[in-house]
Amino acid sequence: MNGVQSYAGRVTRPLIDGFGRVHRDLRISVTDRCNFRCGYCMPAEGLQWLPRSELLTFEEIERVARLLVERHGIDSIRLTGGEPTVRADLSRLVRMLADLDVDLALTTNGATLGLAAAGLADAGLRRINVSLDSLRADRFADLTLRDELGRVLDGIDAALSAGLDPVKVNVVVMRGVNDDELVDFARFGRDRGVVVRFIEFMPLDADEVWTPRSVVGVDEIVARVGEVFPLEAVVRTSAPATQFRYCDGGGVIGVVASVTRSFCDSCDRVRLTADGQFRNCLFAIEEFDVRSLLRSGATDDEVGAMLERAVAAKWVGHGIGRVEFIRPARSMSQIGG
Ligand code: SAM
Ligand code: SF4
Repeated sequence: MNGVQSYAGRVTRPLIDGFGRVHRDLRISVTDRCNFRCGYCMPAEGLQWLPRSELLTFEEIERVARLLVERHGIDSIRLTGGEPTVRADLSRLVRMLADLDVDLALTTNGATLGLAAAGLADAGLRRINVSLDSLRADRFADLTLRDELGRVLDGIDAALSAGLDPVKVNVVVMRGVNDDELVDFARFGRDRGVVVRFIEFMPLDADEVWTPRSVVGVDEIVARVGEVFPLEAVVRTSAPATQFRYCDGGGVIGVVASVTRSFCDSCDRVRLTADGQFRNCLFAIEEFDVRSLLRSGATDDEVGAMLERAVAAKWVGHGIGRVEFIRPARSMSQIGG
């Protein structure tokens, strides 16, 4: 029973890496496809979609997820992509994963939520993050190459009406692109009762336009919002977003400071790509081919051994900004943000 312990009534082999970090959070990308073309994530054209046969089936996803939950102590799962809601019958997968009794969440661009939110909530989805990088229709269209701001705003309302809680809005802040909307977004969050999370721009854009100068760091974000709506820091949790509370009681904002204040030392996250590659870091260079193993008839023990090997190989951190940093070969939409 070496390394095996009882956890919440189940037998688990916790996923502990060489630096003592215990992994509990799983990101599952369900597709590399998307109905938007955000420049910081996907090229406008030319990206080859994965052939359907290379995507994990829902049953394959559920098998890996179940193993990770029941044996390895994963207790939160987030579905992402590409755009997860373009995968047909996503609610069926949500229902299958909801049975695992984990904290189940979804990250989406929100464009289809007007239609999908109630069904997803019914299927067992608990919380949702909607990405939105501009509140100005013309800028939104420039950033996503789609004229759909109205649909995304309706989608956020639909998520609130469906009882998803919390509804968070993810804003990737890019200098000279949308950083003049920081206060507008803060006001939007306060007015609509959603938690706005500002995300530092990361070097995962398919067009490779990222430079250190394009990043607006957490200190500047908090200072600029705080000038209009004074903020105070909330004690940091293991969540990637550092939280700040409005001094007047108007709620909170989050800042995901992946670049200027990397949270690698407390990272508890692993990822499964849409084509069944297991990754121990968003920026990992190496992937572990779980799909081939599943399709070769491997036992749960064999699959579990690969998952453990992958976590054991995790590096200390991504090293963005240091000379040794190497961009991963795949962009954000292909890895699953
Ligand atoms: N399509 C969904 C969406 O847009 O929310 C899910 C996938 S998207 C890749 C997941 C998250 O990654 C989004 O919040 C998006 O804004 C963020 N993202 C994409 N590229 C990024 C980059 N280069 N730097 C920081 N965040 C990025
Ligand atoms: Fe699509 Fe999301 Fe990437 Fe935008 S950020 S292109 S919505 S996957």
